[in-house]
Amino acid sequence: MKKYLIFCVIAVFLLSTFPKYKLAAEDGLNEKEYLMAALWQQTSSEYRALCYQAFNVARDRIHMDIIKEWPKPRAVIIDLDETVIFNAKYNATGVIREQEYPKEFYEWIASGDATPIPGAVEFLEFIDEEGYTIFYVTNRRDECTDITLQQILDLELPQANREHLLMRGTDHTKQGRRDKVNEDYAVILYIGDNCVDFLGDYYSGSIEERKNLTDSVQAEWGRKFIILPNPMHGSWKKALYHGVVERLSGEESLKHKASLLEVIE
Ligand SMILES: [Mg+2]
Repeated sequence: MKKYLIFCVIAVFLLSTFPKYKLAAEDGLNEKEYLMAALWQQTSSEYRALCYQAFNVARDRIHMDIIKEWPKPRAVIIDLDETVIFNAKYNATGVIREQEYPKEFYEWIASGDATPIPGAVEFLEFIDEEGYTIFYVTNRRDECTDITLQQILDLELPQANREHLLMRGTDHTKQGRRDKVNEDYAVILYIGDNCVDFLGDYYSGSIEERKNLTDSVQAEWGRKFIILPNPMHGSWKKALYHGVVERLSGEESLKHKASLLEVIE
């Protein structure tokens, strides 16, 4: 009887912990919830098609702009990561194993392994030939200015020099740099993969606030604002934790994110 009782206790204990063991086995993948996003970015034709679509729309907008008169020289403000520079390999590595940020991101930049986003270089060469000034406005930290400059030179992007590369500094929302460019230029297009590439208010907004902001500038999308797809990272991920003050464990974070899904009752 005693042996049977011990057996039952052990069996109940093992059964109760089984899901945890199962989860631990799956945890071989870091950030496993990004697996599908990384696969979509790296393997889908849909991703590539959306990139081409964005730059085709941008080119059409420039064709419409060329015939106009402006009191200031014309400029295009464009982001770098996931807008001009394809970091899918670096992003996918983060799914498989933990990465040390920013050290490994800087190593990735310096490796020269990144490729351009489909359609980006052709578009930039086109506007360069048409006499538009290009400003690369990135939120990469200032400490990686040199390797970023080297990277855009290696990718043979037009106007790749210090004057046209605007690093983050303390301007997290990018609005300060946009305002500065607007003082001297007529900015015809803003191109990016993150809503912060268009308006600073996106930086710390809640999910609802960001959606409302998007609706309030509905007429700008595909006209003055050209957006590229990025399911891996961006200020939208920060918005998932808007109003969350406590630090969440991995499992709590997963539950919190799942709780944000709207599902059929
Ligand atoms: Mg970006």
